[in-house]
Amino acid sequence: MTVTELVPYEDALAVYDPVMGLEVHVELGTATKMFCGCSTTLGADANSQTCPTCLGLPGALPVVNATGVESAVRIGLALNCEIAEWCRFARKNYFYPDMPKNFQTSQYDEPIAFNGHLDVQLEDGEVFRVEIERAHMEEDTGKSTHIGGATGRIHGASHSLLDYNRAGIPLIEIVTKPIEGAGERAPEVAKAYVAELRELIKALGVSEARMEMGQMRCDVNLSLRPKGEKTFGTRSETKNVNSLRSVERAARFEIQRHAAVLDAGEKIVQETRHFHEENGSTTSGRVKEEAEDYRYFPEPDLVPVAPSREWVEELRAGLPELPRLRRNRLREEWGISQHEMQSVLNAGAVGLIVATVDAGAPADQARKWWMGELARRANESGTELADLPIGPEDVARVCALVGEGSLNDKLARQTIEGVLDGEGTPDEVVEKRGLKVVSDEGALGTAVDEAIAGNPDIAEKIRGGKVQAAGALVGAVMKATRGQADAARVRELILEKLGVEG
Ligand code: ADP
Ligand code: MG
Ligand code: ZN
Repeated sequence: MTVTELVPYEDALAVYDPVMGLEVHVELGTATKMFCGCSTTLGADANSQTCPTCLGLPGALPVVNATGVESAVRIGLALNCEIAEWCRFARKNYFYPDMPKNFQTSQYDEPIAFNGHLDVQLEDGEVFRVEIERAHMEEDTGKSTHIGGATGRIHGASHSLLDYNRAGIPLIEIVTKPIEGAGERAPEVAKAYVAELRELIKALGVSEARMEMGQMRCDVNLSLRPKGEKTFGTRSETKNVNSLRSVERAARFEIQRHAAVLDAGEKIVQETRHFHEENGSTTSGRVKEEAEDYRYFPEPDLVPVAPSREWVEELRAGLPELPRLRRNRLREEWGISQHEMQSVLNAGAVGLIVATVDAGAPADQARKWWMGELARRANESGTELADLPIGPEDVARVCALVGEGSLNDKLARQTIEGVLDGEGTPDEVVEKRGLKVVSDEGALGTAVDEAIAGNPDIAEKIRGGKVQAAGALVGAVMKATRGQADAARVRELILEKLGVEG
């Protein structure tokens, strides 16, 4: 059945309790594929990165990629999982044209990592623990492109093209246990979990985890049960959701749709669903009432994986600081609120600010430039902060020039503008545009004398004790020096010359 009327979100949550399960696939950034030596570099000609193994030709033998296994163990450890002492790959048998072997080499009942958890921080600062069922190794399939139809899907297409360059690229699939107790915050928890996982993967350096490029994708399983009920309801599985925002929207939509079906006294069909970016809805995919029978069996061509305990401990000791802890540490070091930290995160500025501070800038200055002027420029040009033609070293240099008094705020802004416009390094821009603060006392003194001479009535007022009137003279000097004077010093000089106390 199709439900067209969704139940309002709050109404759905007043009656039902959502349970979620998130399955995330991460493409590892190894140089070669999981079971052969073919390159994984993106953008090559179709089918140029293939060999008998990843094309599934008879007699070809796979060999495990050691870096792939190492990445899997490190991900498992970072997710607080137990690491299998011994595990095997399994064949998951099914036919699909983009999978020439007719089975996917995966792991089934012997995953390399299991029983872990990931703590995620919600927008209000609260920490929610997501339990991890397993993380296992598998391989990606090839890519089909359907030509001739209106939608790009196979229906209505006249023919399809197959590119096996992606076949055999290592994937790690990370599956949560059923997530209960999130209530109305279930969609937020889903989004925060995927965001945290992405940060973790990036911190480990095992993948760039760019969702928009398909390097990380999420299946959102969701069911509702009446509040107070223990047993789970029937779930739907929205496949391949590929942005953080979409993960949240898909969960929200499914809550409202399930509620509508259940309110109408009907049953949820266990099925996969597609998410539609344009309107945030999902539509039915494949009905999956019975567990599919993939005839799994242990892969006979690969030796079991038996990570020694010494090696696992070595890898554990080498884990980087985990993103959530690092964020909290930085937030304290920078002395900013949870909310401010969230803005820094959303702007993708954490690494840039850290690098600017490492290059010698005070944290508040580094944050001010990246989150102010530079965020504005990135916004205007529709680019990411990291893609602006200015780096942490440049920003740190500008901060240093401000710190030593060579630039004031206004001149610093112009310097940054020059760097962004391709005029060179901060020092080159200052030199070319002649931006240095006039600190030569002689030149400043002359400018002050001229301002006094040009405004005798104001000067008289100041002499008479109206110290506030000095502002007008400061303004005149700043104008004469094109903003390149240190305003505080100018004020001092004016008062000195007129013989009044500041
Ligand atoms: P499959 O391989 O068919 O997708 P899994 O057993 O791997 O099935 O489960 C998929 C995900 O859905 C897991 O994260 C699991 O915790 C979760 N899950 C299982 N049952 C339910 C349910 N009734 N409601 C919500 N999530 C569920
Ligand atoms: Mg699934
Ligand atoms: Zn190959």
